[in-house]
Amino acid sequence: MLILISDAFDPGLPEKIAKFGEITDDKGRIPEAEVILIRSKTKVTKEYIDGAPNLKLVIRGGVGLDNVDQVYAKTKGIKVFNTAAASSIAVAELAMAMMMAMPNNIIPGHNTMKEGKWEKKQLKRTELYKKTLGVLGIGRIGTETAKRAKAFGMNIIAYDPFVKSHDFAEMKASIKDVLKESDYVSLNMPLTDDTKGMLNKETLKDCKDGAYILNTGRGKCVIEEDIVEALDSGKLKGYATDVWYSDPPESTPLAKAPNALMMPHIGASTKENLLRIGDIIEELLGKYAKNEL
Ligand code: NAD
Repeated sequence: MLILISDAFDPGLPEKIAKFGEITDDKGRIPEAEVILIRSKTKVTKEYIDGAPNLKLVIRGGVGLDNVDQVYAKTKGIKVFNTAAASSIAVAELAMAMMMAMPNNIIPGHNTMKEGKWEKKQLKRTELYKKTLGVLGIGRIGTETAKRAKAFGMNIIAYDPFVKSHDFAEMKASIKDVLKESDYVSLNMPLTDDTKGMLNKETLKDCKDGAYILNTGRGKCVIEEDIVEALDSGKLKGYATDVWYSDPPESTPLAKAPNALMMPHIGASTKENLLRIGDIIEELLGKYAKNEL
């Protein structure tokens, strides 16, 4: 079988899976490929699938499957899997890093030192201790983030229509109930019709004044223009995001906004996670080869 590695994976992956067939990264061979390995860059649309008549299996290294037309794939008998369990710790650690960077002025402190300034008096910090973290979507990543925040002495609340109770968070009945009490809000939901544009001009009014938002979920869960307006007015004290309307964003108002902390979608890109993703791909290919998927 021909296995096309279409996006960036651990460099050791081709060797790890060579036992299952021929491995290529030549995208000109999409029509021949039986298995395609993707991350978030490749978009497996209807047109893509129509151009891949031999395709039987798509494995998405990572969680979100919004870059795969799963409904159309199913009509063509193409199986689609992700490696959901691998990425939780990597993404939760980035959410924690962003949540620590903002109130500790890590970026302004570093930048002003590089400029030869000494802003000891200007750069005030606040602590995470005893602050409230609201998690929107308390699945794998939300849970790992909540666990870590708990260790910092934070109070954790959450909204998730599919989770009734949780070991690390007090569940709330609505998004509004979370927003009105949270000093920090972490977005950890998939992109769906319900979550698209969930944080917007109207819902941001429910936030506490001076709240911080962290987005490691999906860029389109917020309306960027409305976030920028809230940052400009001081309603929000900070917005840290790893996720965008597109990768990379064509243009984003966040680039000029005060207190926006921007990352180039590297939540899942730890060395350890890429190795775990490779292990899961090897396992899935082993099952596929034995007709057990
Ligand atoms: P998960 O499925 O374990 O958790 C998602 C949670 O969101 C679930 O508990 C689900 O019930 C909840 N949810 C669904 N609809 C909701 C709604 N309307 N309101 C509130 N909660 C809702 O997935 P996960 O592994 O925790 O990943 C979460 C998301 O993180 C992924 O869907 C993906 O978009 C994103 N992600 C980003 C990166 C990155 O690099 N930044 C990496 C991996 C995943």
